Amino acid sequence: MRRVILWACVAGLVAGCGPIEPAGDDKPKRDTFASDAQVPKEDPKKPKFAEDRQPGKPDDKEKKVGFDGERAAKHVKELCDIGPRISGSDGMKKQIELLVKHFDDLGGKVTKQEFQGTQKNRKAVGMTNLIVSWFPDRKQRVVLLTHYDTRPIADQEANKNNWNKPFVSANDGTGGVAFMMELARHMKDLPTGVGVDFVIVDGEEYVFGDNDDYFLGSKHFADEYKKAEKTRGFKYTAGVLFDLCFHDGAKLKVEDYSWNGAKDLVNAIWGIAANRKAKSFQYLRGFDRSTAVQDDHLALLDVGIPAVDIIDFDYADWHKLSDTPDKISAKQMTEVAGVIVEWLGTLKEK
Ligand code: ZN
Repeated sequence: MRRVILWACVAGLVAGCGPIEPAGDDKPKRDTFASDAQVPKEDPKKPKFAEDRQPGKPDDKEKKVGFDGERAAKHVKELCDIGPRISGSDGMKKQIELLVKHFDDLGGKVTKQEFQGTQKNRKAVGMTNLIVSWFPDRKQRVVLLTHYDTRPIADQEANKNNWNKPFVSANDGTGGVAFMMELARHMKDLPTGVGVDFVIVDGEEYVFGDNDDYFLGSKHFADEYKKAEKTRGFKYTAGVLFDLCFHDGAKLKVEDYSWNGAKDLVNAIWGIAANRKAKSFQYLRGFDRSTAVQDDHLALLDVGIPAVDIIDFDYADWHKLSDTPDKISAKQMTEVAGVIVEWLGTLKEK
């Protein structure tokens, strides 16, 4: 993810701040931020989406899914033990081999989407998106999205001398991959009426400076999807991105681009979370600043796929060497899984 968080001016308290541009209901402009602080505006304690729901327990079918958060957390460690997995590196190659085997053994249909990642003033690098398809014959499909490359530099370390030390990015991408590695064990029996594609993108972090391009893999994936519009024979109706959301104490507020581009999907997912008392999901936006975050979900929104980013914008170890597997919470992985599995269970082919 790329922070576009700008501190909002509060009654002129902050000098040198630009004008606040309310995002309203329109598609947000990139690099602007929203000033309306809360979702919904009326009464956050009584969200509309929950009115027609019984205070609930997961139904029996969903309980049987049995997502194992401990095992998912172990997968984070397994991937981080490879070391850095920068696009085009040996670490990335090892990771690809491990994942292809893992998903293949569990019955997913694995497709490697290979492309050349070009970054300003650098040689092109071979990159690979992995697409793991479940129920491949279904024409209505959803994307579960994460990235699996690690950043070449830990650029949030205060001491620049630390930037080039090995950075394993446990909660930044890796957690999402591990989440899918565990979910894969349950996909064949998962109660859902739609096809599900795990889309694990490369080139999210292949960034060395402020002027570099972000999100190479998700942009490539979205471009290919758009190009194949007339021939592909299926449609993505929703996308959910997992980023920086699996640590203890995660606060998963509603991200601005997600809200502006996919309100119904936000309400569906945060509504299910409220109903399940999945407390990390907070049906709020920033109170004193924007919560707009550029991330891989933007590429999906750009090609007409409603997409949300499940993210904690304030993860303390973001792009620091301290983003290590011990920060991952098995309980939090289970909480996110419960919400997503229940949401998948509500989807029916139209
Ligand atoms: Zn990152």
